[in-house]
Amino acid sequence: MQYISTRGQAPELSFSDAMLAGLARDGGLYMPRTIPQLDATTLKSHAGLPFTTVAQNVMTPFIGDSIAAADLEAMIGAAYAPFRHSAVTPLVQIDDNLFVLELFHGPTLAFKDVAMQLLGRLMDHELRARGQRATIVGATSGDTGAAAIEAFAGLGQVDVFILFPNGRVSEVQRRQMTCVDSPNVHAIAVDGTFDDCQAIIKGLFNHHAFADRVGLSGINSINWARVMAQISYYFTSAAVLGSPHRKISYCVPTGNFGDILAGYIAGRMGLPIERLTIATNANDILARTLESGTYAITGVAATQSPSMDIQISSNFERLLFEVQNRDADTIRAQMATLAQSRSFTLPQAALANIRKDFDAATTFEPQTTAEISDTYHKTGYILDPHTAVAVSVARRQVKKAPHIPVVTLGTAHPAKFPDAVEAATGVRPGLPPHLADLLSRREHVSYLPADAAKVERFIEERLRK
Ligand SMILES: *Cc1c(COP(=O)(O)O)cnc(C)c1O
Repeated sequence: MQYISTRGQAPELSFSDAMLAGLARDGGLYMPRTIPQLDATTLKSHAGLPFTTVAQNVMTPFIGDSIAAADLEAMIGAAYAPFRHSAVTPLVQIDDNLFVLELFHGPTLAFKDVAMQLLGRLMDHELRARGQRATIVGATSGDTGAAAIEAFAGLGQVDVFILFPNGRVSEVQRRQMTCVDSPNVHAIAVDGTFDDCQAIIKGLFNHHAFADRVGLSGINSINWARVMAQISYYFTSAAVLGSPHRKISYCVPTGNFGDILAGYIAGRMGLPIERLTIATNANDILARTLESGTYAITGVAATQSPSMDIQISSNFERLLFEVQNRDADTIRAQMATLAQSRSFTLPQAALANIRKDFDAATTFEPQTTAEISDTYHKTGYILDPHTAVAVSVARRQVKKAPHIPVVTLGTAHPAKFPDAVEAATGVRPGLPPHLADLLSRREHVSYLPADAAKVERFIEERLRK
């Protein structure tokens, strides 16, 4: 499989090259040249298969001959072995036709582990085969950085630099990044917002001389390999609920649009999906875009679901590419307008195309707290605030279409956000045993201003040769 940039001015790459590159040279995002199809027989065969087998079926056509089948099988097996549930991503029913797909049984308690545990192995495998090293950089609103550090710490071929907004991540999130003591890992607290961190990362990639010198590689959800790995659990969960014989809807707590984009690709591959619903917190740029057709950046509000406190949803560019006939000239023009005036308006046809598959709705802070409390008091089940944002939206959907099952993606373990959960329920959720001493471990962190040049200098100083 070959990969093309959404902005049309970067070279076409193989799967492995696109994975190692992260962002395309022209500032665009890589997409597979074609979307592979899984036929009905394959979909039916998924019922009862282990997660790892379905994952291999789903990912193989995207990888093509970049990686040998036996190597891929071994890496998938190793990536999901540390998950604390035998189903890897189990499905739990919390009400009539309302399900939570628990994606948080990996080492850092958020869904980012599902992709990152595999990505670390894929990258290390490819770099070793080439005899190369890479400098991995990423911006995080909390969970991506923790998952990346956990997946890449100690690997021989890579150095990892993770930028997070100082004071805007939870203590558990911060400590999952700063309490890892490994010479190839650097957690950097930036004096700014997540969007500042993301802008610095984009700047590093666009500084081509620097990027080439250090072998820069990105692990944000702009990296296609992460989106690809997240497609698997749409197929496994649908099979559990009787797909392809009936359609399922998905409701996804959304920030950077990577997780729900994976659902859209699953649908394009042939999975019968009724609706994909974007659930946002007060940072509702996507809900406003679906309502009005105008993508307009405003300020970032801090909420109890910080991993969704985002104004620029990077992966939305991939959807824009798909719904506008993969016309890279249009994408370039829209992104240029966005960069200049902080907004752009979608053509009617593109908006109509998006609305064919997607809905969007917002849950504000008091409703999120009420959802955590209500679900706990009705069922004993404890939601984290990100999942609660989406469960609240999913309840509205089930009311409108009671015969369609709605699967909400459960993106974090409640123990990752204990303050919000305790405020809503009176119960302080405990960390699982492997993290029980997290709050007493020593932290390793560097503080930098929101300044790309200073970040570059820091990276060059700290790189292992
Ligand atoms: C990253 C994250 C999200 C948002 O996912 P996107 O792919 O960025 O839309 C939601 N919830 C949690 C807990 C996360 O870590």
